Amino acid sequence: PAVSVPDPAAGQAVRAADRAHVFHSWSAQGLIEPLPVAGGEGSYFWDYDGNRYLDFSSQLVNTNIGHQHPKVVAAIQEQAARMCTMAPGFAVDVRAEAARLVAERTPGDLDKIFWTNGGAEAVENAVRMAKLHTGRPKVMSTYRSYHGHTAAAIHITGEPRRWANDTGAAGAVHFFGPHLYRSHFYAETQEQESARALAHLEQTIAYEGPGTIAAVILETVPGTAGVLVPPPGYLAGVREICDRYGIVFILDEVMAGFGRTGAWFAADHFGVTPDLITFAKGVNSGYVPLGGVAISAEIAATFDQRPYPGGLTYSGHPLACGSAVATINAMAEEGIVANAAQIGENVIGPALREIADRHPSVGEVRGMGVFWALDLVRDEETREPLVPYNATGAANAPMAEFAAACKRGGLWPFVNMNRTHVVPPCTISEAEVKEGLAVLDEALGAADAHTTAG
Ligand code: PLP
Repeated sequence: PAVSVPDPAAGQAVRAADRAHVFHSWSAQGLIEPLPVAGGEGSYFWDYDGNRYLDFSSQLVNTNIGHQHPKVVAAIQEQAARMCTMAPGFAVDVRAEAARLVAERTPGDLDKIFWTNGGAEAVENAVRMAKLHTGRPKVMSTYRSYHGHTAAAIHITGEPRRWANDTGAAGAVHFFGPHLYRSHFYAETQEQESARALAHLEQTIAYEGPGTIAAVILETVPGTAGVLVPPPGYLAGVREICDRYGIVFILDEVMAGFGRTGAWFAADHFGVTPDLITFAKGVNSGYVPLGGVAISAEIAATFDQRPYPGGLTYSGHPLACGSAVATINAMAEEGIVANAAQIGENVIGPALREIADRHPSVGEVRGMGVFWALDLVRDEETREPLVPYNATGAANAPMAEFAAACKRGGLWPFVNMNRTHVVPPCTISEAEVKEGLAVLDEALGAADAHTTAG
């Protein structure tokens, strides 16, 4: 794709304005240097200095159809000309059509959509629905999870970013989901790990009191925690436990949904139907903020004759819904979900396993579709993470050196704790994958130097 003509002076002006007035997420404001970005197209974006980056991050695992998809850009322009906004209480064509397109793709009878502006709000509302539906106060979630940063969502989140905000709010109960690579003292096979995790969940429910648990919420494939593909039988087992105790089963597909795993929803791979699905990101590739909750017939019926006590001014925003209609239709017309599936299975997976064999810093490769992570270790035997677990999420030396080497090679990586995730758009081509993995392969040399073997 064409890179805009370099204009370093414009880049400096953007940098100065940003530093003067923008307060950034998850950051010590004085320690960051945000890159001024001039534009993007397809799998690439570029800065003002003439550097182009292959986007192996999809902008927080979000732009599943890549940057500036022409059909979606045109749909947003048309929608803006026709109707920019309308309050959530009205029936609007694109609001209804986007809901139909999502409902058509969700498993089972999850046929009603509550629209939000993003993932955390979807989680807030799914939790509220589960509590009102069951009349119970607690929600269970895994330690290795991220569910967003609003009040309920951050308490349910299990990973260390919760700690700074955790006031010990009543009702959030954490447990360990399956993760064989880091449970190797307790389980040898995926089947054993699945059984171990299910027994642990059931025991935790018993001690919390089954009659107090409104919901179990899981990321179908935990993403931010390192792309933890669940072992055989685990999700079906959770479904069965939830049914036995009358607990609402919520799958959070904010990151895993809409093609990321090579299926419309990750749940499709595992043959499970939850009661609620939260989604955002890929539903419209984040072109306009949008998320939602897909609701089963039974839970929707709870609010047939009784008001649902929740809502947002921008719920079902026409610009956002118009972009979702165009995104989902483009994904269907262009075989984008199938591309994610085949490129993951035939190109990314085999190449990452081959790379892992040659680098002592790569402890494990996990993933499916365009949703992969490399778990980097200091020692392959002990599996000691390459960097210590770090509550701020800030990259320290080895990971920072690895990320810098990627960027010098024209690759924008997604680095988190001791992992690098390979999460390009679902539209990525084989040639682009190969270009990116060649840079990643070389950059791993910087990580190898910090291992016991290096
Ligand atoms: N749930 C999951 C699984 C996520 O990965 C995220 C964000 O990465 C969220 C919820 C929060 O979404 P948002 O940042 O749109 O509020």
